[in-house]
Amino acid sequence: MSEVALAHRPTASAAGCADAPILRERGQREVFCGLTGIIWLHRKIQDAFFLIVGSRTCAHLMQSAAGVMIFAEPRFATAIIEDRDLAGLADANDELDKVVARLIERRPDIRLLFLVGSCPSEVIKLDLGRAAQRLDRRFAPGVRVLNYSGSGIETTFTQGEDACLAALVPQLPAADGTPSLLVVGTLADVVEDQLRRILIELGIERLAFLPPRRAGALPPVGPATRFLLAQPFLAETARLLETRGAARLPAPFPLGAEGTLAWLRAAADAFAVDPRRFEAVTELPFERARRAVARWRPELAGRSIFFFPDSQLEVPLARVLARELGMDPLEVGTPYLHRAHLAAELDLLPKSTRLSEGQDVDRQLDRCRAARPDIVVCGLGLANPLEAEGLTTKWSIELVFTPIQGFEQAGDLAELFARPLRRRARLAV
Ligand code: SF4
Repeated sequence: MSEVALAHRPTASAAGCADAPILRERGQREVFCGLTGIIWLHRKIQDAFFLIVGSRTCAHLMQSAAGVMIFAEPRFATAIIEDRDLAGLADANDELDKVVARLIERRPDIRLLFLVGSCPSEVIKLDLGRAAQRLDRRFAPGVRVLNYSGSGIETTFTQGEDACLAALVPQLPAADGTPSLLVVGTLADVVEDQLRRILIELGIERLAFLPPRRAGALPPVGPATRFLLAQPFLAETARLLETRGAARLPAPFPLGAEGTLAWLRAAADAFAVDPRRFEAVTELPFERARRAVARWRPELAGRSIFFFPDSQLEVPLARVLARELGMDPLEVGTPYLHRAHLAAELDLLPKSTRLSEGQDVDRQLDRCRAARPDIVVCGLGLANPLEAEGLTTKWSIELVFTPIQGFEQAGDLAELFARPLRRRARLAV
């Protein structure tokens, strides 16, 4: 264990991809918009409601992204902007106020309402910030009303979560000056519970998660707050937490056995946890995770992989696949590459990996076809055509919807990449 522990403390000379040139592309892109984040956010904050102010297209996107989920009392909906609103014949603000009043009357369980902007609400310049302030005054203190944008003009896929959490940061109460740890980024409840248990066993008891499970449990923040990002797509949320005085703990993300250990170590170091205690608490789960990952190594080692930009999880995933499973990441594309937040990850990527940021989808498809990788990780729109060309694909959205963080999920994460190869092998017989 100590050998691995040393391996995650990259020195300045262990460059990895830290200084590698990045191919920046600004062409056509194939990425979901930020509305998609509502699918996992509405499950997390259990008394929140997400009201998309959008079009039928937005409603259809949410319907298909939510898949087969059927709710007696759904916690997201779309207020459709009709032709009359677009033509300026109706006052969209009045219409919106009526929709919100009806919703809150029908649903007394709602404590936090997000007005979520879309492409159409932006095109008609509907000021949802002012609408949220107006409605917040009207329905306070029972219901807080906030807003953020999930529009495809402004956000990609996981940036919707960043925008949502950034809207929460100014609402966080001021901390009292006692050192505390804040874990930032939506995690499945089962993962959150596991990480919380380990952090408490390490002695870090002043501990909170953002987003919280209840709107009334917003965690306090202040200069004595140290925060660990659990997701790599939270640039704006992190920036706003820093303006509240909190300091980010640099660390790899809690993916794979090694990443989870290094992430926990960053917290342990910041809170001066005795190394023997750290070893005692993490040894067994780390070993379990390492063994669970190693099971999949024979199927994955030596295989090449190519990431199209989608969720911003691409860099940490490529790091797990390269270091713990022996895979060869040929190209790792990501919508945005935050050098500071990904510094510890980039250090650990193989030097030979090409990093690309943004997208010019045709050029990237050409590079992918030329490379003929064993697995392509991409969005739904590219997967079918690539499969038809004989390439094996993995839907990147699955990696966002599946609990993959932490020790106990490390084996499941590895298995997600073995599955498409097995499917392809079965089809070839
Ligand atoms: S917000 Fe824009 S990109 Fe997203 S579904 Fe609505 S119209 Fe489409």
